[in-house]
Amino acid sequence: MSYTLILSFLILILFILLIKKDDTVQTETEIVKGIVNDNYNFYTCPRCEKNNYVRINSLIKVCSSCGWNLDEPYIYDSVRLSKAEAVSDDRVLSDLKVNDQVYIWDDPRNDRTSLPIYNKEGQVIGLVPAEIMPDLFPKISMSKRILAKVKKLNKVSGEIEILITNDLQKMWS
Ligand SMILES: [Zn+2]
Repeated sequence: MSYTLILSFLILILFILLIKKDDTVQTETEIVKGIVNDNYNFYTCPRCEKNNYVRINSLIKVCSSCGWNLDEPYIYDSVRLSKAEAVSDDRVLSDLKVNDQVYIWDDPRNDRTSLPIYNKEGQVIGLVPAEIMPDLFPKISMSKRILAKVKKLNKVSGEIEILITNDLQKMWS
């Protein structure tokens, strides 16, 4: 007899808890709805092109599909370097290999009409040409981290094509 009583008591408590939980969920949904109308906006992910509905003043806006920071521009560009006059050492080119990591250093002393690319010894291997600087340079300045590697190399003509990206995951794939 008392066993049944305890059991029904437990069921009653469980029931009350469920109702309470339901209440909280409803209230939260209502709050979120209120914010949605005022402070949310669509952001198209520059990496996967998915539309995200994100709070405008949230500090970090992350793509729900690929995890990209929606405030950071996306760079995944192949760039054919123009030849730098500073390259006097023939070994700079002969030591270079496809897939070698190369480095961008935005030296404030440069006039920013073109951007020198360095090998790991700190020698200039070529320049990001002036004609793509207006498009590329602002994106580079806004990126947390930029990586670059040699993509194609013609040791006879001296032509170097590099991959510039701020997508760490796709750098070596
Ligand atoms: Zn995305």
